[in-house]
Amino acid sequence: SIVMLETIRVWLKRDSGQYWPSIYHTMASPCSAMAYHHDSRRIFVGQDNGAIMEFHISEDFNKMNFVKTYPAHQNRVSAITFCLASEWLISTGHDKCISWMCTRSGSMLGRHYFTSWASCLQYDHETQHAFVGDYSGQITLLKLEQNTCSVITTLKGHEGSITSLWWDPVQRLLFSGASDHSIIMWDIGGRKGRTLLLQGHHDKVQAICYIQLTRQLVSCSADGGIAVWNMDISREEAPQWLESDSCQKCEQPFFWNIKQMWDTKTIGLRQHHCRKCGQAVCGKCSTKRSSYPIMGFEFQVRVCDSCFESIKDEDRTSLATFHEGKHNISHMSMDISRGLMVTCGSDRIVKIWDMTPVVGCSLATGFSSR
Ligand SMILES: [Zn+2]
Ligand SMILES: [Zn+2]
Repeated sequence: SIVMLETIRVWLKRDSGQYWPSIYHTMASPCSAMAYHHDSRRIFVGQDNGAIMEFHISEDFNKMNFVKTYPAHQNRVSAITFCLASEWLISTGHDKCISWMCTRSGSMLGRHYFTSWASCLQYDHETQHAFVGDYSGQITLLKLEQNTCSVITTLKGHEGSITSLWWDPVQRLLFSGASDHSIIMWDIGGRKGRTLLLQGHHDKVQAICYIQLTRQLVSCSADGGIAVWNMDISREEAPQWLESDSCQKCEQPFFWNIKQMWDTKTIGLRQHHCRKCGQAVCGKCSTKRSSYPIMGFEFQVRVCDSCFESIKDEDRTSLATFHEGKHNISHMSMDISRGLMVTCGSDRIVKIWDMTPVVGCSLATGFSSR
């Protein structure tokens, strides 16, 4: 595992079971993103000044050699991906762009600009599609070519900046975490625009990882919350919120509906929405709160009175497990083959977690639990 502030360090697990820093390299600017390619032992470190530095690690992990510097961005590098087959180094930055560079020549191949800071990146190596999340809450799907690119589509659903993305190329699912505390699963392969909302965090979702083998999604938030979502059941899409000038239950006007207020001599009410049916309702017709995990609502949300009656006790059974990380998680990485998770906090602490009790011992043996 590797920690970065203005240094990059490699920690080795000793015979005692403890981790010790073996080698480190001091950087000119704080480190902001990293990609490690296991098979070629190449590390790419993005910095606050926009540059990406490449290092090569020796076979015994006791030596780290500087390879080259890439002038990738004008500002902080936010995410990096390396593709060995094409020798492309793809990155996003706070200069609002995605860039891709050739690691053989070190030269820039292409760039594409967005309207706001690009915050996270996922790449499909087979089809050369890149998913870029940004600070406006939008996700852009691009197809990268040698010196050009084309925008395929934009995905809008979050109400805050995109903080994490995960692409599963097998099921063709995209997961996005955002500062609005929610996660959305985008069913790209299904081609029907199906999206699932997952609400269980009480702070920004900072990191996500989907384990295809067990169909579980692991997510971490800034308040230290760790959630493991069961994605192996058929979940329901949350409804679109309906627009109405009056409560769709009692028909009393909302406050902007001056005409009806005047005609009926009534006082306008505030508009709310039932999370289960999506209807526009007044406060009096939606006094109850309920969780509804099948729609992704793991904690209690506003529901209209008739929806509340329709929710049975067994419908409230949680479809995720929640764990306490006990630090402000800013980064997370999973070693799925060993069932290990690493979390890095803003407290400068790195924690290594044995996730096998949560994600199943099936991981260690490689057999699916299903
Ligand atoms: Zn009402
Ligand atoms: Zn309802």
